Amino acid sequence: MYNQEMDSKGNASQSGREPYEVECHACGKPFNAARAPWCSCLTNLRTLVCPACGACFCAAPKGYRDRFWAQAPQDLSRRRFEEKTAPFEPLQISSPGELRRPIVLVADDERVILRLATKVLGGLGYSVLTAKDGAEALKVAQAVRPDLVLTDALMPRMDGREVCKRLKSDPRTSSIKVIIMTSTYTASRYKTEAMAAYRADGYLNKPVDFKVLKELLRQQLS
Ligand SMILES: [Zn+2]
Ligand SMILES: [Zn+2]
Repeated sequence: MYNQEMDSKGNASQSGREPYEVECHACGKPFNAARAPWCSCLTNLRTLVCPACGACFCAAPKGYRDRFWAQAPQDLSRRRFEEKTAPFEPLQISSPGELRRPIVLVADDERVILRLATKVLGGLGYSVLTAKDGAEALKVAQAVRPDLVLTDALMPRMDGREVCKRLKSDPRTSSIKVIIMTSTYTASRYKTEAMAAYRADGYLNKPVDFKVLKELLRQQLS
C-alpha cells in the first residue's frame, strides 16, 4: 500500500482522491496536495513536494504545517499515518563482501528513519545497513567497515557522538566518515563542538533535508 503512495508519478492509484488545493509556502503557487508525492527528507513527519518548485514543507513555518494538516482531507491524513507506521525489514547480511560500495551505515532509534534512509540512500546507489542504537552501530561498523556512518546524535545504549569518537580513535575504523544528525543541538556552536570534540566529518539538522544529505554524501564519498 505505502509503495503506491510513495510513487512520484501520480499513477492510477491516486485518481479518485479528494483534491486538496494548497499554496506552496516556498514559491506561492497553488498545487493539489492530494496528488503530490511525499518528500525524501529523513523525518518521521514527511511532507509533500510542490510540483512547481520541488520544495517540500518540512522546513516551513510551524503555522503553515499545522494549518495544512488541520485542513487536510481525511484520506491524506490517513495516508500520512500509514506512511509513518509502514513496516520495515532491515537488510540482513551474511557476508559484508556481498555489498557493493560505497556502504552507508545508518544508526537511529526511530525505525521510520531507518526505513526512509534505506529507501532514499538505496535510490542514490549506496548499499545501506542499519542499526537501531549506538552499540549496534559500533559493532556493525567494526565488522563491516562501511564507507560512511550516518548517525543520530541521541540514541539509547550509546549515543551517536560516542560512536563517532570511538570509531575515530581506533586506527582500524578511523578512516570511516561519520555524519551526525540531530534535532536537539541545532545551534552552530554545537556543530563546531561536535566536529572538533568527536571528529565528525559532517553534521546535519533534523529533519534531514534530502538535497542537503545527497550533497554531503557526494562530497564525503567522492
Ligand atoms: Zn513551490
Ligand atoms: Zn521534506
